[in-house]
Amino acid sequence: MSRLEHSEFRFRTGIGFDAHVLASQRKLMLGGVEIPHKQGLAGHSDGDVLLHAITDALLGALGLPDIGSQFPDTDPAYKDADSTDLLKEVCRLVRNKGYRVANVDSVVICDEPRLAPHADALQASIAAILEIGKDRVGIQAKTTEGTMLAIPGKSIAVLATVLLYREQ
Ligand code: MG
Repeated sequence: MSRLEHSEFRFRTGIGFDAHVLASQRKLMLGGVEIPHKQGLAGHSDGDVLLHAITDALLGALGLPDIGSQFPDTDPAYKDADSTDLLKEVCRLVRNKGYRVANVDSVVICDEPRLAPHADALQASIAAILEIGKDRVGIQAKTTEGTMLAIPGKSIAVLATVLLYREQ
């Protein structure tokens, strides 16, 4: 087998992006945590844009198609799905392929609500889902500063990266 065979790579990185629109009469789920807010994120599942971006980063690191291909929004099985369950399923895939999560970093672009008071809870929740220490989960909460990177009060966008290492 060649030294460069996929199965022999010790490290793999992945990047994920997601954005959802804020809507009324929805719970705001972020990182598996319910955040008190007058609006929540629209979506076929629970709309957890942060978990979706991390899920995509893991899938990307494995060279697999994204979350929409793995869990199609045309499939009624995933209507109002708990994104925690979807991420856990992808974590099992990571483990089955012989990898472990080294660390995750994320940038949550969001004007409302202010996420700084919740950053610790988000970090703990994601660490628990991924079964890694809190110090291996980065949560950067950024406001748009009027740049329209995410429409203020209308949407939340997330970028996430992961590093996987091969278990020997
Ligand atoms: Mg999504």
